Amino acid sequence: MIYFSTNKTSVPVSIKKATLEGLAPDGGLYVPSEIPCFSAPEIALLEEGNFSSVAFAIAKKFICGEIPPDQLSDMIDSCFPFDTPLVRLEEGTFIEELFSGPTLAFKDYGARFLARLAGYFASEDNRLITVLVATSGDTGSAVAYGFQGIPNTRVVLLYPSGKVSRLQEQQLTTAGGNVHALEVQGDFDDCQRLVKQAFVDPDLKDRLTLTSANSINISRLIPQSFYYAWASLHLKAEYGLDRPVFSVPSGNYGNLTAGVLARMMGFPIGHFVAASNANDSVTRYLDDGRYEPRPTVTTLSTAMDVGNPSNFARLKHFYANDHRAMGTDITGISVSDEATGKTIRDLFRRYGYIADPHTAVGFHALEEYRKTTGNTAPGIVLSTAHPAKFLEVIEPVLERKIDIPERLAVVLEKQKQATLIGTEYSELSGFLKNLDRL
Ligand SMILES: *Cc1c(COP(=O)(O)O)cnc(C)c1O
Repeated sequence: MIYFSTNKTSVPVSIKKATLEGLAPDGGLYVPSEIPCFSAPEIALLEEGNFSSVAFAIAKKFICGEIPPDQLSDMIDSCFPFDTPLVRLEEGTFIEELFSGPTLAFKDYGARFLARLAGYFASEDNRLITVLVATSGDTGSAVAYGFQGIPNTRVVLLYPSGKVSRLQEQQLTTAGGNVHALEVQGDFDDCQRLVKQAFVDPDLKDRLTLTSANSINISRLIPQSFYYAWASLHLKAEYGLDRPVFSVPSGNYGNLTAGVLARMMGFPIGHFVAASNANDSVTRYLDDGRYEPRPTVTTLSTAMDVGNPSNFARLKHFYANDHRAMGTDITGISVSDEATGKTIRDLFRRYGYIADPHTAVGFHALEEYRKTTGNTAPGIVLSTAHPAKFLEVIEPVLERKIDIPERLAVVLEKQKQATLIGTEYSELSGFLKNLDRL
């Protein structure tokens, strides 16, 4: 399998190069040259399997030839030592909980797989790669804990001082070992500017192999298709239900794109609801075919506050830029903060289920979709984060205290380890040049 750029001017590359490079040299996103297909008998066989066997079957098709199967299989096992529960709310309505990983959000799936793949490829060349990431919160923590202890890799995270929640800061600054946190006395844009400058600094290129780990990396996308495939099969095996509608709380649209990939591979998926908050650039595109990104607005579901989603280029590529074709598979629904709060209360009242604000957006969008279309297919809402990550939203809405899971409580007690830097580029480059002495 080879991977080419959505901008089509860079040369096609292997999964190894696409993983270590992140973004293609022409600024495009890497996509597989063809979408691997599962035949009906192959899918029937997988119905009996567990999460890891489904994940392995998919990964094999994307990475065939580049990693020996037994090593790929071990890698998958070490990526997902936690459950992916499919919780039944009522007849035909389910929540797939994607928050059982170390940082309690679905980004663990992508980051853990990417980390192991990147580590494997770096070790093949006897190289040490340095992953450089600017983060405003959730991506950075998934990357920190994803790469923690992975040989041949180290991570440098830049986050804006005082602009992430206490919980996020603890997750960013306590992984230790090969993970270094830089607390930047500026805002997120400063962090991004510093990182971009480092990637084009010829002086650093000679000393370090810099890699990015943001959500445009194809090796973060592939593992996100695993839980769509698995849920569609498990729904059939366990409940006798077929071809569900997935409602996907969306920000950069990586998660939704991975779902589209799973469906194109042949897994029994009926339709998608792209659930957004007030940041509705893609929702409007699905309506009228015009893509007019607007400045980002702040909402209750902060991880989805993205005005110009980075994975949209990839999504469009999979539909050959045809907005009608995309609209046949995907319905976009935008959900207000008011409806989000109301849904958090409703879910608790009706089912005793405590949902985080992102999951609530997904649930509300599924209900809207069913109401307006009369669709009666089974529905699966992806739950992208554990409610305890968003206490400051949920507790006042529900007027009750939320229990903090053990693995989160442990992180809150750890000693923060971060290096404070200013916004001058020389401070970052100085730190990177001295990394070997740390
Ligand atoms: C990142 C994130 C999202 C959005 O996912 P995309 O792949 O960027 O669309 C939704 N919910 C939570 C909790 C997230 O961290």
